Amino acid sequence: MRSPEEELGELEARQLRRRLRRIDSPQGTHVTVEGREFLNFSSNDYLGLANDSRLKAAFIDGVERFGAGSGASRLVCGTMGPHAELEESIAAFKRSEAALTFSSGYATSVGTLSALMGKGDVIILDKLCHASLIDGARLSGATLRVFPHNDIGKLESHLQWAEKEVASANGRILVVTESVFSMDGDRAPLAEIVALKERHGAWLLLDEAHAFGVIGPQGSGLAAELGWDDGRIDLQMGTFSKAAGLSGGYLCARRAVTDLLINRARSFIYSTAPTPALAVAAMESIALISGEEGERRRERLWQSVRLVAEAIGVTAGSAILPIILGSNEATLEASEALKENGFLIPAIRYPTVPKGQARLRVTLSAAHQAEDVACLTEAVRPFLPGAPGE
Ligand SMILES: *Cc1c(COP(=O)(O)O)cnc(C)c1O
Repeated sequence: MRSPEEELGELEARQLRRRLRRIDSPQGTHVTVEGREFLNFSSNDYLGLANDSRLKAAFIDGVERFGAGSGASRLVCGTMGPHAELEESIAAFKRSEAALTFSSGYATSVGTLSALMGKGDVIILDKLCHASLIDGARLSGATLRVFPHNDIGKLESHLQWAEKEVASANGRILVVTESVFSMDGDRAPLAEIVALKERHGAWLLLDEAHAFGVIGPQGSGLAAELGWDDGRIDLQMGTFSKAAGLSGGYLCARRAVTDLLINRARSFIYSTAPTPALAVAAMESIALISGEEGERRRERLWQSVRLVAEAIGVTAGSAILPIILGSNEATLEASEALKENGFLIPAIRYPTVPKGQARLRVTLSAAHQAEDVACLTEAVRPFLPGAPGE
């Protein structure tokens, strides 16, 4: 029987072993690692809300009013006022009939896909969909088809095939994609995907994890930027763990769908309700994101995004900007050298991204100052493809 030590050794030999890095300060653009301060370009805290004083105050107020714990799962006696109010608040913000919250975005993906889809159904996913969506799709038992990233032609041929496949059993077809892709930072061609799925009688699940708070009117996401609510996009999910600065996931859909999920989504049913104070803080976060403060922060964020995107030669489509270097070794070396210089910029390697597409993944925050951004563009310049010495 192979030992865990052997398995770790193999990972080590292939330069794939990963380790935890401990941060000893609150989250922010400057963080402390092992006593040394770093300029942080690796967080998903896009609006700089994770350590915001208003969110902290809301959290503390939530604890004072509702206590520390939720006591039970949502269906037993864990549904408290703040959970219900948060669901109303996120549904209103996303202009959806209803919403259901989960303990994380991961739990949202896995619970939703495995509850709504099953044997005899077909799920069609973009090749670059997040692991939580792939895991949920696999768990569901539905037949899976994958289309090359953003390849509308291939999506259409899968849809044509799926229509015939499910016809006799009255099965469901679900297309799954993301507003903004986590490793490339590019966007899905949503208008074309919606037109296609409507033509073929399929549903669409859109994961707005990296768009929520960042894109669209009041930061409400890519779906809203195109003026669509759940009338056209059947299932919209997202997380409070990125721009919203907290944790927890949401699924917006018609009431019949969220009611069905309450009965069927195992990650919702068999897990203790999130602490009620988290729901209180999430409502405050939605208020901040959708208000003037959110507008100001998005302006600052997008200013930095445009500057950095231009410097590294990619499209400014989101707060995620990849610098693709190719090999695992070159990317690890670049990330290490940048760390020596005081920058936290993660090396993203196979298997998170395809072989030969290892990259530095730069993420920006509204809290980055102009000088932080200037330092960044200087620091990464030597590593850019085509730079002298490459
Ligand atoms: C981060 C992420 C998730 C998971 O959300 P958590 O709240 O961190 O569990 C799901 N989907 C996508 C696309 C993500 O980027």
